[in-house]
Amino acid sequence: MRDEHFKVQMFRFVDVLASLHRGGEIVRHLDEYFTDMRNGFAPLVRTGVQAAKIVPWISGQLLRWNVSGMARQFIAGKNPHDVMKTLRKRRAKNIGFTVDLLGEAVVSEREATEYAARCLELLEYLARETQGWIDPLGKNSELFPVVNLSVKISALYSQMNPADPADATAHLAPKLRPILRRARELGAFVNFDMESYAHKNITLELFKTLFTETEFHDWPHVGIVIQAYLRDAEADLFDLIDWGRARGTRFTVRLVKGAYWDYEKIKSSQNGWNIPVYLQKPESDVNFELLTRILLENEKNVTSAFGSHNVRSIAHAQALADQLGIDRSRFEFQLLYGMAGPIKRALVEMGYRVREYCPVGELLPGMSYLVRRLLENTSNEGFLRAKFSDNVSEQQLLRDPRELLNGAAAPPATSVTTGDRQLPDGASVDVPPGDTYENASLVNFVYKENQEQMRAALRQMRTQLGKKYPLVINGQKIWTGKTIASFNPSSPKEIVGHVTEAGIPEAEHALEAARSASKQWSRTTIEERARLLERAAAIMERRRYELSALEVFEVGKPWAEADGDIREAMDFCLFYAQQMRLIGRPRLTQHVPGEESYQHYWPRGVALIVAPWNFPMAILCGMTSAALVTGNTAIIKPAEQAAVIGAMLMEIFAEAGVPPGVLNFLPGKGSIIGAHLVDHKDVNLIAFTGSREVGLRIWESAGQTRPGQLQLKHVVCEMGGKNGVIIDSDADLDEAIVDSIYSAFGYQGQKCSACSRLIVLEENYRRVMQRLLSAAASLRVGNPEEPGMTVGPVIDKTAYDRIQEYIAIGKSEATLAFQRKDVPAEGYFVPPTIFVDVTPEMRIAREEIFGPVLSVIKVRDLDEAIEVANSTDYALTAGFFSRSPANIERAKAEIVAGNVYINRSCTGAVVGRHPFGGFKMSGGGTKAGGADYLLQFLLPRVVTENITRHGFAPEETPQYREEFLWPPKR
Ligand code: NDP
Repeated sequence: MRDEHFKVQMFRFVDVLASLHRGGEIVRHLDEYFTDMRNGFAPLVRTGVQAAKIVPWISGQLLRWNVSGMARQFIAGKNPHDVMKTLRKRRAKNIGFTVDLLGEAVVSEREATEYAARCLELLEYLARETQGWIDPLGKNSELFPVVNLSVKISALYSQMNPADPADATAHLAPKLRPILRRARELGAFVNFDMESYAHKNITLELFKTLFTETEFHDWPHVGIVIQAYLRDAEADLFDLIDWGRARGTRFTVRLVKGAYWDYEKIKSSQNGWNIPVYLQKPESDVNFELLTRILLENEKNVTSAFGSHNVRSIAHAQALADQLGIDRSRFEFQLLYGMAGPIKRALVEMGYRVREYCPVGELLPGMSYLVRRLLENTSNEGFLRAKFSDNVSEQQLLRDPRELLNGAAAPPATSVTTGDRQLPDGASVDVPPGDTYENASLVNFVYKENQEQMRAALRQMRTQLGKKYPLVINGQKIWTGKTIASFNPSSPKEIVGHVTEAGIPEAEHALEAARSASKQWSRTTIEERARLLERAAAIMERRRYELSALEVFEVGKPWAEADGDIREAMDFCLFYAQQMRLIGRPRLTQHVPGEESYQHYWPRGVALIVAPWNFPMAILCGMTSAALVTGNTAIIKPAEQAAVIGAMLMEIFAEAGVPPGVLNFLPGKGSIIGAHLVDHKDVNLIAFTGSREVGLRIWESAGQTRPGQLQLKHVVCEMGGKNGVIIDSDADLDEAIVDSIYSAFGYQGQKCSACSRLIVLEENYRRVMQRLLSAAASLRVGNPEEPGMTVGPVIDKTAYDRIQEYIAIGKSEATLAFQRKDVPAEGYFVPPTIFVDVTPEMRIAREEIFGPVLSVIKVRDLDEAIEVANSTDYALTAGFFSRSPANIERAKAEIVAGNVYINRSCTGAVVGRHPFGGFKMSGGGTKAGGADYLLQFLLPRVVTENITRHGFAPEETPQYREEFLWPPKR
């Protein structure tokens, strides 16, 4: 297990094993995971695999049997009956227990209800079977009931959303009360386990709320976990202690280091959040000791359970308790089942209370859940080592963690494999463009302050609704007397704003302004243009909540989606500013004696920006900022449904100091002013994102040269998708279901990247459908002003009618498998809908629906799956869920889409990280948020000078020469 790669492969293999039923499949996976490994195990494994191939059925069974044997070491029992055998043996050694039900991640309310029922069943069984058991220490036994159940809160509610603690409590409390009530009647203890940081505050709130209720406020046999690796841990513990004191009844805190260290770090880094965990291992150890002191000093109100295998942490708790005169029988040590046997024995012998944390569940799937936890946290690797502290001296084991703090190296950042990108001279390595860019962060709605800021912004925005917004041409506000009203799709009676409507004369006026401003702007320094974008991003950051709130009202985005859109807009500004600085300088093409050639770029001229409503700030801002930073002047035409957000973008750029005429805001009818400008001889560039129908019209029309036109028009054209997600027969369904549901129904399916075809292999079709349908039935559908909604309204009446038409078509072509009933009556709410028995030639499998409608296509095998995935006119995004390394490689190579996502949702592209855009009928092959995007807005130019004079040439040629961009000063 010391070879990292082997270890990861081993964990991954165990993870997938439970989902493989045929011998041949097991052997195939074994082969894929292990045979090309370059380490000492390889020959051994290869021979094993070769042998296994001869009789796959037997080998498969043998392997399952072996892994089940290994699982026995860490899982206390398959079921309540089985676990009792273990618990009895432990009792004989004076070791107590807390049981934890292992199981799949809960993706639906049906599964959550099942988990609650299993908890109750287990409680009853344990209470019955342990009748007459007495406390091993015979002292202070009233603090430590024999039966102790550890409950995973996330397993009781599938729609827990950090932004909405009230909703979580409203759903969790009714499921927990019967369990708690029964536990109390049975004299049992219930502990709330702690999982990822996203659920921490909710779990703490829930604990305090429930145990303040009249029914439970005087019940002492309840506990919660504090994770010492969290920076918040101390404040949370003090808060709990204060609460407990006010409550007037004892409770227990299980102090642990925490099991999601890697996960928390990865998740925070991806979203640009402060990392909630300590980065150095000894920091958590130090904190554990600090929290131990706080707990023991408050022994009057809190019972401590120290959950650690670290002998120093354990010894420290012992010493401190002695120092404070706390009897050994008044606190306990909790250790994992299957680990640290000698420590448990020693603790018992020393007269301490020991309780084992005992996972219960089917062995093979259970092992894969355990391994999954391990994969989430490789720092937990000691878990699988039987002799976990080999060859370590006593002194080292007991060393004060404070001594290790200074100078302890921070964990290495993820290393980037540069592979063969090393230049031939070995001197420099090509750094991925996204690596030099740090993305703007998302708002983390885990924090109450952020939730409150969003609520306040929504309240404030409500007072601003109905305002009027002018056109902006040449820096002047213009009112035409005609307006376009923008409605709140959740409540169409509510007008979000009135935006002045431009007609042909205003379009001409805007074009003239943009043309006149062009000369000056094209010669404005790159630095100045880049700074304009950076100032715009800073203003967005300042107005962040306000802008998100506006999106909730104007386009029905749930909180996190609205925030994601603003973040993306900021990212576009910042990334393009950076990219322009990188590519903007005239650069030497080649070192050659006697001649120098510099390639550089000129702007194309006047850009027309035509945007859709579904990412109302991000897409409009992305195309606009690209046009401006490259030196083009622009006319922006927002979608009618999102025109107020368009007006905000104009306001932001005006405040950022965009010169008059450089940016002109021209809301109006796409079919009138949009079409007029597309055809106009003086428009040089059209950046369009929207439907295929409009996109193709623009593409065609822009291809015609009009009288007087001096330049070929360039079109950046991003259109729709009909994105397919394949679920392979060995896919991890916990992930596949959650991500597919989110990809299909997040923001009501109104993303160009949304999954609209789910392609499922027949081998696990039944299981996928069972979980998928109940997950869809559990989604939160409603007004997105409420936090934590997943599905809101579709954009307007036209969209509503069109999607309903598709649902009718689906009913006639395929089989309706699921449709939500409980959607709000007011507003344009289309119920999430799933069709099965869909075949690739049906209209619902071919045409973009752009709403919460999912077509499921059953296929025989991966060949057919890929064929179906590729069988549309579109090629925007695609997804693939699998745990077969060979199949994953195949999907990477064969799926036809601009953005292929493996084992994750197929939506949510991040600027710089996932350059976004498709081909075929999804677009012209450009990548928004990618390093080469700006080239679309530029004309490349090369100036070559013969620098030889009478056979003599300077030896040095500079790499960059900025003066090529500017006319000489006279
Ligand atoms: P539309 O194509 O209906 O509208 C897009 C924009 O084009 C609007 O501003 C519209 O103005 C304007 N427009 C309409 N007719 C013309 C015309 N004849 N000439 C010039 N402009 C015109 O798309 P939606 O706004 O409904 O957006 C949804 C579509 O966008 C979906 O198909 C989706 O897949 C796609 N999309 C693609 C993305 C990608 O990156 N590939 C990203 C996001 C969305 P008006 O509002 O006045 O009609």
